[in-house]
Amino acid sequence: MKGAAVFPAGQSLKVLYDIPAPRIESPDGVKLRILQVGVCATDREIASFIVGTAPEGCDYLVMGHEALAEIVETGPEAGDLRPGDLVVPTVRRPCEDPACIACRNDRSDFCITGLYREHGIQNMHGFMTEFVVDQARYMRKVPPAIRDAAVLVEPLTIAEKAFIQAERILMRLPWNLPGAPGAAHQAVVMGAGPVGLLGAMALRVRGCKVAVYSREPETDPRAEITRAIGAEYVSSLDRSPDRMAAGMSNIDLVYEATGSPRVALDTIGILGRNGVLILTGVPGANMHEVVDIGTLITNMTLKNQCLLATVNAGNDAFDRAISDLTAFRTRWPGAVRALITGRFKLEQFATPIRNTAGIKNIIEIAS
Ligand SMILES: [Zn+2]
Ligand SMILES: [Zn+2]
Repeated sequence: MKGAAVFPAGQSLKVLYDIPAPRIESPDGVKLRILQVGVCATDREIASFIVGTAPEGCDYLVMGHEALAEIVETGPEAGDLRPGDLVVPTVRRPCEDPACIACRNDRSDFCITGLYREHGIQNMHGFMTEFVVDQARYMRKVPPAIRDAAVLVEPLTIAEKAFIQAERILMRLPWNLPGAPGAAHQAVVMGAGPVGLLGAMALRVRGCKVAVYSREPETDPRAEITRAIGAEYVSSLDRSPDRMAAGMSNIDLVYEATGSPRVALDTIGILGRNGVLILTGVPGANMHEVVDIGTLITNMTLKNQCLLATVNAGNDAFDRAISDLTAFRTRWPGAVRALITGRFKLEQFATPIRNTAGIKNIIEIAS
């Protein structure tokens, strides 16, 4: 079968045509026909040979971790999964250390050893291929009604995992407890990429006032999507983060989705009292800044602020992403459709990885 592969040692990308088709080998096995796979910055880093490890004994890694698939075959112990069901597979698989309390509790997204495997990223082939065999427990079922948008589930899980944690932190304030009078939270999303825009949608369905701050001009489609979901778009071409914040009430939550360390640093300055700053970027090393760390820490302490960095996602975040995406599609069908800006064949996989134009580009593998 076909697959989109990276050869980390040879530093090349290739479409392979002779990958052996996988077979179900365990009672809880499921065979997936991959329908669509999204491309993101992680794929760009893998294709630039910065990250990405091939499975043991293999010189290539099949890419792709943001998948929508259809079940085509199940083992006898695959639970309620049936051929024809639509699923989004989770990405991370647990480490084998008996002492890893996270993995032993089905929370490999909080793995302590770092020895987990990830489809299409670390020691495990990804989803940019025709068929994949996996275990039923890692499948999240998707309603057919969101088939056209479900490839966005995985990038949305980043925001969902972050917000599940942020909600718990915000509940330290008694006026934020469920049923308490609390006012709508003011949230700011830094960056209007797919992770930022999906995060903005998730904040809007929870009743937050949302501003999206990004470098594109007011006329950009990203700004139109932002306004369509009832959020404010602020272009960095027109206003500094400080000027934006001056026109707002206390900023309770900032979701940093640009991956820029400079932007992350600037956002600490606009975060309000008792606020939570969420970091999701992985900018890498060697970015130096001169910062008055004394003022920074003093302000964070005096304002009861919380810095929350988060990666990967558990089943709870996947399930919330699936139900949220269902709500997004009902409320803002045009805005959700506008997030997917490019569709490519498997043979063209290198194009959207190399060329960053558009919002979310996807690979169509089967229809
Ligand atoms: Zn991704
Ligand atoms: Zn672990």
